[in-house]
Amino acid sequence: MQDHKAPSRLRLDSAALVTNWRWLARQSGAAACGAAIKADGYGLGARAVLDHLARSGCRDFFVATWAEAAALGALPDGCQLSVLHGVRDEDMALAAQIMAKPVLNTLAQVQRWTASGMDSACDVMIDTGMNRLGLSVSDVASGLLNGLRIDTLMSHLASADEDSRQNQVQLRIFQALVPLVQAKRLSLANSAGIMLGSDYHYDLTRPGLSLYGGIARPEMRGAIQQVAYLEAQILQRRRLAAGDAIGYNATFVAPRDMEVAILNLGYADGYLRSFSAPTGHVGGSAGAGRFPLIGRVSMDLIAICVDAQPDMAEGDWITIDYDLARASAISGLSPYELLTNLGARHDRVWV
Ligand SMILES: *Cc1c(COP(=O)(O)O)cnc(C)c1O
Repeated sequence: MQDHKAPSRLRLDSAALVTNWRWLARQSGAAACGAAIKADGYGLGARAVLDHLARSGCRDFFVATWAEAAALGALPDGCQLSVLHGVRDEDMALAAQIMAKPVLNTLAQVQRWTASGMDSACDVMIDTGMNRLGLSVSDVASGLLNGLRIDTLMSHLASADEDSRQNQVQLRIFQALVPLVQAKRLSLANSAGIMLGSDYHYDLTRPGLSLYGGIARPEMRGAIQQVAYLEAQILQRRRLAAGDAIGYNATFVAPRDMEVAILNLGYADGYLRSFSAPTGHVGGSAGAGRFPLIGRVSMDLIAICVDAQPDMAEGDWITIDYDLARASAISGLSPYELLTNLGARHDRVWV
């Protein structure tokens, strides 16, 4: 399998990834800038993201689970890895083995970590109103955190991508808690949170989406660059006669004779059925131009009209229009889903 090339690939722009991280680091002011690489680096490949960013100076990485931490392998010197979902009993064996720290979210997790006798550092998540993971304000007041060796005390913003009052409410709650907990560092902002201003930066920011090209807030437009380019190979070129139908349920009938290319890409690769014509997404763009997607997106295939490209042939590669903002507007899916849905069948090629 080593040398086998898949008929679809993600071309991943390492310079854009690094540029995005550096830009977010600058926007983070005096705070260090980490990187959320959960869900396999938002679908791009966590290990490669880790290596590129570590080489550029990023030192703090975040995954969701211990399996994700284990899959990363050894960390580059000086880097730290946090496991956002904390530790269950089932995780303790891995936690003893792997150079990563849990982000403790519940009192049971705090007790488990304390009782384990592992005196290595941990992080702690405080819930400031998102009501997802994290210790409550009263958990903190109970004093049960005393004695923990806490590296980073953090909370997570629910609405940083909006100009919501909730941002300030969460900030105030976090500010009030800070003096009650002994921790080396404090952290509050995700990608969008970085843009809310220096009050939100503390010692460490934790962007994910915007590293990978997601415009989390309008202020990022023009600065954050696309990282992931979806490319698919032409498997067959064919001619439709006027009146011929194409694809499942014959949703497209050729109004005239047409030249068509069938590409190795479908909804099992994250290319959504909701992009199907006539919703109107333009499927491919390759140097010369853009090609109308025709008929339904299949599990593994799509069809595009290539009338204007007489030279385009079986085996050629087409770059798919996968601008996250536009694809998000068309599909109603968030840029997070669009990235993490990109399937396992693509080769991931860093350039
Ligand atoms: C996913 C995650 C992040 C990164 O969020 P983005 O919106 O992708 O920047 C930061 N912190 C926590 C706790 C997360 O779960």
